Amino acid sequence: MASDRFQAPDYYQLDELYTDEQKLIRDTVREYAKANISPIIEDFAQRSEYPKHLIPGLAEVGAFGPYIPVEYGGAGLDQITYGLIMQELERVDSGIRSAASVQSSLVMYPIWKYGSEEQKMKYLPKLATGEMIGCFGLTEPDHGSNPSGMITNFKDNGDHYLLNGAKMWITNSPIADVAVVWAKDESGRIHGLLVEKGMEGFTAPETKDKWSLRASITGELVFDNVKVPKENLLPGRSGLGAPLSCLDSARYGIAWGAIGAAMDCYDSALRYSKERIQFDRPIASFQLVQKKLAEMITEITKAQLLTWRLGVLREEGKATTAQISMAKRNNVDMALKIAREARQIHGGMGITGEYSIMRHMMNLESVVTYEGTHDIHLLITGMDITGIPSFRNDGK
Ligand SMILES: Cc1cc2nc3c(=O)[nH]c(=O)nc-3n(C[C@H](O)[C@H](O)[C@H](O)COP(=O)(O)OP(=O)(O)OC[C@H]3O[C@@H](n4cnc5c(N)ncnc54)[C@H](O)[C@@H]3O)c2cc1C
Repeated sequence: MASDRFQAPDYYQLDELYTDEQKLIRDTVREYAKANISPIIEDFAQRSEYPKHLIPGLAEVGAFGPYIPVEYGGAGLDQITYGLIMQELERVDSGIRSAASVQSSLVMYPIWKYGSEEQKMKYLPKLATGEMIGCFGLTEPDHGSNPSGMITNFKDNGDHYLLNGAKMWITNSPIADVAVVWAKDESGRIHGLLVEKGMEGFTAPETKDKWSLRASITGELVFDNVKVPKENLLPGRSGLGAPLSCLDSARYGIAWGAIGAAMDCYDSALRYSKERIQFDRPIASFQLVQKKLAEMITEITKAQLLTWRLGVLREEGKATTAQISMAKRNNVDMALKIAREARQIHGGMGITGEYSIMRHMMNLESVVTYEGTHDIHLLITGMDITGIPSFRNDGK
């Protein structure tokens, strides 16, 4: 891969909206990513391997649970800083951001919000340092967009619960030490259970042959009469709203992350277009290339403003699920379109590992589907503005 010459676009001077601390942390993560992730990521993606050796460094720059309070090992940072960290990680690769999102918002968040004090003390500090890796099991082979239909279930069996079922498409599952698993009790109510690696009857096989998020590890969670200690149930909240609130936090991070991927594609296309000569002129001098670049920076700037405002609302505890849906959907779609246009500007070179474009494009094909598909988020906006759900939504 060519050396990382990334320069962040800031067309509307958004830096003026960030505090010095927010900019310092963003720049630290940017430098960390440039020095440590960029040089190796293409190779790991080509080999379809998660670069596990990055875990301690990612923990050090605050990628795991940035907004979790300091007493539980987190960094106690605000929501905009969390977003900026996700932006910088996805600027390099969506797979690295995915691993950090899952650890922070889908594992640490539910333990922090809904766990007992003992669970928080047992898991959060180790998840923050990366000593433990977590995963989040909601999706099932037959229940993706409709998680309320899940069949994974547990029964009270005296001094423990007996867990049965299977989850699919679970980021980090093959390397996870603990899985936050969403399952129904005997009355059909959804609860979160903390299932640990090594529990009898619990396996997490890897999902192979992905063309997307190749530097992120994905797998299944299979439960065959797994005896889960009763103290491993998250006591603070039950019902579908519990996992959905975690998804709000993760989708918020994705909205920022997608901007990172888009910025990288735009920056690369802008530089390439000024350096690449055809017909004795830089291709940046052709109107059709300028149109592509001008549209890219317009869309990035709109997404940056939308997401900054969402961050302010989230920090104030006012961001709604529907507002988060709008930003996730808009930004991922924007990034995917920019990746495709940037690929064209790079001509044939755009399909090679010399540039990050094709990797971003393939990664974003997962990001547009996971954590609620592009269309489901549109329907969430539709439901919000009309008050009429057009898809089943049992949990609300
Ligand atoms: C790489 C990767 C990592 C993932 N990581 C995790 C993870 O860590 N944990 C986890 O729990 N899950 C994870 N997922 C699962 C992800 O969240 C689901 O793939 C997603 O929710 C969509 O579910 P599905 O794939 O079953 O698609 P389906 O729900 O079958 O949808 C297929 C198509 O039908 C459309 N559709 C469905 N219902 C409707 C409707 N009512 N109206 C209109 N259109 C509809 C969808 O928009 C989509 O286009 C991951 C997925 C991927 C690809």
